[in-house]
Amino acid sequence: MATTAEKSIAAHPRFEPVIGLEVHVHLLTATKIFCSCSTRFGAPPNTNVCPVCLGMPGALPVLNKKAVEFATLAAMALNCRINETSIFARKNYFYPDLPKGYQVSQYDKPLAEFGFIEVPSEGGKKKIGITRVHLEEDAGKSLHESFPDAEEKTAIDLNRTGAPLIEIVSEPDLSTPDEAYEYLTRLKEIILYTGVSDCNMEEGSLRCDANVSVRPRGQKEFGTKTEIKNVNSFRFIREALEYEIGRQIDVIESGGKITQETRLYNANEGKTYGMRSKEQAHDYRYFPEPDLLPLVVDENWKKEIAQALPELPEARRARMVKEYGITEYDAQVLTFSKSLADQFEQAAKAAKNAKRVANLVQGELMGRLKAKGIGIEQSPISMQGVAVSADLVEAGTISGKMLKDLYDLSFERGKDFPAVYEQEGRPQQSTDTSALEKVIDEILAANPKQLEQYRAGKKTMLGFFVGQVMKASKGQASPQIVNDLLTKKLG
Ligand code: ADP
Ligand code: MG
Ligand code: ZN
Repeated sequence: MATTAEKSIAAHPRFEPVIGLEVHVHLLTATKIFCSCSTRFGAPPNTNVCPVCLGMPGALPVLNKKAVEFATLAAMALNCRINETSIFARKNYFYPDLPKGYQVSQYDKPLAEFGFIEVPSEGGKKKIGITRVHLEEDAGKSLHESFPDAEEKTAIDLNRTGAPLIEIVSEPDLSTPDEAYEYLTRLKEIILYTGVSDCNMEEGSLRCDANVSVRPRGQKEFGTKTEIKNVNSFRFIREALEYEIGRQIDVIESGGKITQETRLYNANEGKTYGMRSKEQAHDYRYFPEPDLLPLVVDENWKKEIAQALPELPEARRARMVKEYGITEYDAQVLTFSKSLADQFEQAAKAAKNAKRVANLVQGELMGRLKAKGIGIEQSPISMQGVAVSADLVEAGTISGKMLKDLYDLSFERGKDFPAVYEQEGRPQQSTDTSALEKVIDEILAANPKQLEQYRAGKKTMLGFFVGQVMKASKGQASPQIVNDLLTKKLG
């Protein structure tokens, strides 16, 4: 994992970027936000529709309770204040995939406000403000396709119309493309932990618009921003921002002015292109939605929802570092997903020595994964397998050296540790004490000075002798047995 500083393009000496992100996240409800149509992705076009989501005259919306609970849960996880009363509003605009001619959203009274996410920045941490989290419905999808008559046509699929979304708007607190990347990574991780969305970018379950401007360093006022829309990966968002910042600086330095506009990113070329200018585009004429009551999330309901709030990744990492004595980096890897972290903790708790499980992950598993270029999710050795191996070492059944060999075999064969251990006929380390005793005698004879120190009361020399014997036995001996034999001999 490269650090932020390594990835960062050199900061511009005269200009400072300002970035704010708007993120849309699909909520994993079974049905749409104002009707009982299914939200299933990939259904045949225009099969999950009804008079409500098609905007037929006279059809009335009924708010989906689950959508409110999911949105509130996400907002809580993002440290927001939940507004007891929020108001749905109509955002009016014309677009072929918007049958009603307006989108039901929230405007001046959103569900939640004043949140934040912490992102790593310059070796420390930085709080990025979240302006608001509000509920809204999705629009349909325009499909630009070639048809059998070879003509380019646009088809419209309204299955997505009325799917529940939250929009998460950040303050313009981000100062670099790397910070934006980190913010999105954390945001996605938090949302995934809450379980309210699958955040699948390919399926459009998480979409991000990036707003960016530049200003001379030291200037208080923001410069004019552009908005980059429809970028489909975090990496591309970082690239698009890097390009766009460079472009804006060039325009200003050559005496030009930035026009406020929406731009598209072409990932093949690594460039952004103007799509439409903001002035001509939008006056949404927001007004309160007359067909829906104000949304009230009172204290009791809030409390109920809060019960579903899981331990969030940041807190979990801090706890795991403390509890298992692992590094922050390892905690980062082990919390890659909630399920992986759960597996690790289950294994660590089931094993006789949790710390040993953590140490094996850190000392034996990570390096092999890295050498193979795979992530921990693809590891042939499961957390369960690590726990089994940890117990075998703990019990003195196998040595550290044998464990290493068995791990190598696991990786070669793509099989989990317990399976390989069986295949190898449940090997055990040598407990042949006569051979060991001979080695011990040799070591003691070869180190008279240390022996003298030990006899003079420096009991810590025992560790030195154990180490020497282990080395001489090439790790095959059981440290416990070596320890016992040595103590007996020295005593
Ligand atoms: P709009 O009305 O154009 O959508 P908003 O004020 O709602 O603008 O802000 C949208 C997003 O743009 C927010 O994430 C905000 O932080 C960000 N933003 C606002 N002003 C700037 C700016 N000058 N430079 C960069 N980002 C900005
Ligand atoms: Mg906007
Ligand atoms: Zn419907």
